[in-house]
Amino acid sequence: MNYDYVIVGAGLAGLTFARIKADEGKKILVVERRSHIGGNVYDSYNNDGILIHNYGPHIFHTKDKGVYEFLSRFTEWNDFQHRVLSFVDGNLIPMPITLENVNKLYNLNMSTEEMKDFIAKKAEKIDEIKSSRDVALSMAGQEIYEKFFENYTKKQWGVDPKDLDTSVISRIPLRYNRDTRYFTDQYQGMPKFGYTKMCESMIASKNIKIMLNTDFEEIREDIPESAQIIYTGAADAYYGYKYGRLKYRSLKFKFETYRMEEYQEAPVVNYPNDYDYTRITEFKKMTWQKSDVTTIVKEFPCDYDPDDPEADEPYYPFPTKEWKDKFALYKADMDKEKRVHFIGRLAQYRYYNMDAVVRTAIDLAKEV
Ligand SMILES: Cc1cc2nc3c(=O)[nH]c(=O)nc-3n(C[C@H](O)[C@H](O)[C@H](O)COP(=O)(O)OP(=O)(O)OC[C@H]3O[C@@H](n4cnc5c(N)ncnc54)[C@H](O)[C@@H]3O)c2cc1C
Repeated sequence: MNYDYVIVGAGLAGLTFARIKADEGKKILVVERRSHIGGNVYDSYNNDGILIHNYGPHIFHTKDKGVYEFLSRFTEWNDFQHRVLSFVDGNLIPMPITLENVNKLYNLNMSTEEMKDFIAKKAEKIDEIKSSRDVALSMAGQEIYEKFFENYTKKQWGVDPKDLDTSVISRIPLRYNRDTRYFTDQYQGMPKFGYTKMCESMIASKNIKIMLNTDFEEIREDIPESAQIIYTGAADAYYGYKYGRLKYRSLKFKFETYRMEEYQEAPVVNYPNDYDYTRITEFKKMTWQKSDVTTIVKEFPCDYDPDDPEADEPYYPFPTKEWKDKFALYKADMDKEKRVHFIGRLAQYRYYNMDAVVRTAIDLAKEV
């Protein structure tokens, strides 16, 4: 085991760190318990030849030029600009809350100035913003909160938004113009040949060795003292759950393929108030693949149950004080580690977008 770094997890956090250090001439071992690299950004072609995102739709978007430039070494991008529609009161309404959205919802034809007055009258005055519900009400008022956010959030998290940390609905994107793109970040798009191809290109270095289907526990005792460990798995697992398990929310995905060119009007349609699923994604609308069949995925949120053999992955750390406090116990231990560095959404127990994960790994690589 003659490695400078042993990296646990072949997601974006682990692979970013691996590649930077490999380019510096360091010897890297990446261990990954799944049978593939990429972590949750993994994509693959299904039996109908459609490129799907196996762990749910991933749209890359960032304001961080350094992150964009780093990933652009490993992929070209298509210029995809994400759009979302929300099925509300029987109509498909563009998300987020923009002039288009509000005009369509209320069947009005307001100008920007009129919309500002309209929203200002609806927004509720809340002295102390304590929950996600407070965030939404204080920005857009009861009606918009109920139609777009309340039930969607309940479905997604299984609890009322009033019990969720403000970070879940940290701010409602409110735009007083007609820009109906979901994200307005300067850099956005899809890797032209998919995320898996991008990740394969990231590890194409003679200094990186990958062990798939291998849990950290299987090699833990064999790692020499001289190697540093970059751990991107779950914090509670690293410490043998000594303070108990952390809570995660998960998703069950239902993929369906149809013999038609197009299934829906937008890449993603949200269903805040109807059905048990939260949203439907049509992959071809994001990847621009041409085919006379199309594949969609419906997302059914659920709690992560590690004892359920059918269980999916622990996707979302649970954003309430109780679970943040429990994570703080692990964090105190993590801070004392000398040669183990914890990065990524599982180890840091926080929801991170792809760009933030890559940024954390770039910064850590500079530091160690
Ligand atoms: C449904 C969904 C949709 C998303 N959509 C977007 C989006 O549109 N845009 C965006 O920017 N971000 C999105 N994200 C977030 C994005 O997936 C993450 O930011 C990113 O994938 C996190 O990378 P990571 O390396 O931290 O974690 P992961 O991708 O989870 O990688 C960690 C890896 O470590 C492995 N591992 C864990 N424990 C062990 C162990 N003990 N031994 C060996 N291996 C181990 C895991 O198998 C996994 O492969 C989405 C996330 C989800 C769940």
